[in-house]
Amino acid sequence: MSFKSLGLSESLLKAVSKKGYETPSSIQTKAIPPILEGKDVLASAQTGTGKTASFTLPLLHVLSENPKQKYRNIRALILAPTRELAAQVHNNVKEYSEFLGLRSTVIFGGVNQKPQIRTIRQGVDILIATPGRLIDLENQGVLSLKYVEIFVLDEADRMLDMGFIRDIERVMKLMPSKRQNLMFSATFSKDIKKLAYSILNNPEQVEVTPENTAVEIIDQKVHRVAKNKKTGLIIKLISEGSWKQVLVFTRTKHGANRLTKKMISAGITAAAIHGNKSQGARTKALAGFKKGDIRVLVATDIAARGIDIPLLPHVINFELPNVSEDYVHRIGRTGRAGASGQAISLVSADEISYLRGIEKLIGMSIDLEIIEGFEPDPNASTEPIKPGQNRNKSTSRNNKSKKSSRNKNSNRNRNRNRKKN
Ligand code: AMP
Repeated sequence: MSFKSLGLSESLLKAVSKKGYETPSSIQTKAIPPILEGKDVLASAQTGTGKTASFTLPLLHVLSENPKQKYRNIRALILAPTRELAAQVHNNVKEYSEFLGLRSTVIFGGVNQKPQIRTIRQGVDILIATPGRLIDLENQGVLSLKYVEIFVLDEADRMLDMGFIRDIERVMKLMPSKRQNLMFSATFSKDIKKLAYSILNNPEQVEVTPENTAVEIIDQKVHRVAKNKKTGLIIKLISEGSWKQVLVFTRTKHGANRLTKKMISAGITAAAIHGNKSQGARTKALAGFKKGDIRVLVATDIAARGIDIPLLPHVINFELPNVSEDYVHRIGRTGRAGASGQAISLVSADEISYLRGIEKLIGMSIDLEIIEGFEPDPNASTEPIKPGQNRNKSTSRNNKSKKSSRNKNSNRNRNRNRKKN
């Protein structure tokens, strides 16, 4: 199968070959033809499968084939849950549209809106946006979605996790009812299916087969370890393995900051990215990591969405996520588009039940290894940690009160996230 046989135009083929892609990935082979035919598509695909090109390429083809409107209106809207993902999608759109006369821009919260307004006023064909800023600018009369021909909802599952359902519903009302809709999601809960049903019109369903998903090609390993020895172990693994580019996941922002400081004290260049960091700090950390100035990037799940680093060799779960699907998202950062990578999870007694859930989801058991000097604590409780619960040792009474205030905080953060994005 070649990109040419999928029916893409010469200009797009030129851009694809400039990117160095030789053959389309599985999701591209399956999603591009129905999108070119003008059908609505519901696609199940994780990050790392080449999903961005699978909707961007045919979207650009369709827009450039159709006659231009008299005025430059927004003809395609791509909605993404995070600023990082939106920026990443925009980079892809720019690269693939290099030889077409189409204009695009990206808007997201947390940064000055003036430059965004200026660009939109000059006219764009394709708008990539996070929901909050989009609605904000529409309310201000800066943009209109009345001429949207193609609507893409990317990472729909993450959109719902981040509480964007109301915003999505509002955006839907701003677009004409006759349009092509594409929805991408890594997971399919009941809520996602409900959303798909409300957005899509007789959609073609496409999914990548298990052989092609990241999980199958990634070398996965679990190190059972006492919780208080995790930091020592991660430093040992990175130092002794001389690993140069490692993405580490923690469950909390504080955990990310704490671990980053300890790595730096141990002489490993590291930076943290999470929702409390400014957009500038996140961009700088990511650029340093991509360039190789920073060896370790410590991230929380939400901040890591949309990070696109081709051929990322190592992902370490400093803590397992309590939602099994997030494990698949996390390790999807490595072994991208056919290249193999390594995903290591440090698992303490209280995470055993999460490990079981993950193994059930991916349908395989993960190889276990205990490293001398970093053995698990035989007396530790296997009681799972609840989301938002304090992980440090403290009395159970303290734990209770901290837990309830943290839960309140996490609700607050969720609301804040919605506003920022
Ligand atoms: P995505 O799933 O869209 O985040 O893409 C994952 C990575 O695969 C990105 O770095 C893309 O540039 C790359 N990629 C996308 N399509 C192809 C392809 N057909 N061949 C090789 N790499 C690709």
